[in-house]
Amino acid sequence: MSFETFNFHPSVMAGVQALGYVIPTPIQLQSIPPIMQGRDIIGLAQTGTGKTAAFALPILHRLQQGKRGQVHALVISPTRELAEQTCDAFTALGKKTGLRNVAIYGGVGKDQQIRKLRNGAEIAVGCPGRLLDHLYQGALSLSHLDILVIDEADRMFDMGFLPDIKRILECILQPRQTLLFSATMPDDIRRLVKEILHNPITIQIGQTAPAASVSHTLYPVRQDLKTALLLELLYKTKTGSVLIFARTKHRVERLMEQLDKSGYSTASLQGNLSQQRRQAALDGFRSGAIKILVATDIAARGIDVSNISHVINFDMPENVDAYTHRIGRTGRVDETGEAFTFVTSEDMATVRDIEKVLKKPIERRTLESFDYKTPSVEKKVSYSPRQMRRVPVGRQSMGKKSQFAISRSY
Ligand code: AMP
Repeated sequence: MSFETFNFHPSVMAGVQALGYVIPTPIQLQSIPPIMQGRDIIGLAQTGTGKTAAFALPILHRLQQGKRGQVHALVISPTRELAEQTCDAFTALGKKTGLRNVAIYGGVGKDQQIRKLRNGAEIAVGCPGRLLDHLYQGALSLSHLDILVIDEADRMFDMGFLPDIKRILECILQPRQTLLFSATMPDDIRRLVKEILHNPITIQIGQTAPAASVSHTLYPVRQDLKTALLLELLYKTKTGSVLIFARTKHRVERLMEQLDKSGYSTASLQGNLSQQRRQAALDGFRSGAIKILVATDIAARGIDVSNISHVINFDMPENVDAYTHRIGRTGRVDETGEAFTFVTSEDMATVRDIEKVLKKPIERRTLESFDYKTPSVEKKVSYSPRQMRRVPVGRQSMGKKSQFAISRSY
């Protein structure tokens, strides 16, 4: 099955070819035909399945044939990063269509967004809060809207955006086609679906479980030894780009600093950073200039970097859904990836939940060379930037020359 079977407008096919897509992914195969027929759909697919193109291509095809100069398609996204990435996908796939898009999110000035809207962008991709600002101020009109996409709906609910989404829906008066994508289907979303989708088709890609192309490993470890274990693990493992998740903004920053001191090109991604710094971190990570990105869950939502070899859960995610989302950053489409998760005795209930969804136990590993017994306060971690690449100094004490000692707070 190839993309030719969808009969896309030649200018849309040009985008498919430009991005080198040859075979449609399962979510694309199943959802593009009904979307082209104008049906509402519920796409149950995790990130990394190609779901963005699954809605972007039929939208571009439809708008290509219609009137220009007004917003005809709106995509609601949970985060600025996802909004940017979705716009990038529209830009790349729609390069030859002449259709314009605008990313709309807070934390940056409104002027450029307003200018793009005034200039007649046909596709708007935005986060609920700023979309409402523009709607209430009259900069954005949805009176010509044909297609609405609610992307990563479950994340949007987790982040408390439901009331905002309902307000946006109140601004859409005419009939429209609605597409809702979600990795999971909690009750809140089921209720919303009943309210706003018309006779939808449900398309479920596999289970809402972590991608099959990812191998999973648990590293049991005491809380206070996590940083030392991480450094050892990074040193011993052949990795490409690595994405590390920690639980809080503070832990993300601390860990980033420690990796930086150990000689890694690293950056952080967390909610307190300015949009400019977030974008710089993502651009550096995408280009390969930054090898390790340390992030919180929310900041990392929707990161689309295709070559992540390892996702490391420095802290256990809150539940199976969060695990699925994190792990979705590696093993994308046709690549493989590894997921390492540090577990303490308190994390075992979540481990059991994840194993239930995976339908198999996750391998537990210990690092032979690592001393799991020495209390962290006595353990001098002695990786220096230059030594890091060559000499496995492990847990040898370097006395006063030691770069840093692991403090109790980790
Ligand atoms: P998504 O799930 O939309 O975040 O897409 C994940 C990645 O898959 C993105 O980097 C897309 O560019 C890529 N992708 C989407 N569709 C295809 C396809 N049919 N063939 C190859 N790569 C694809």
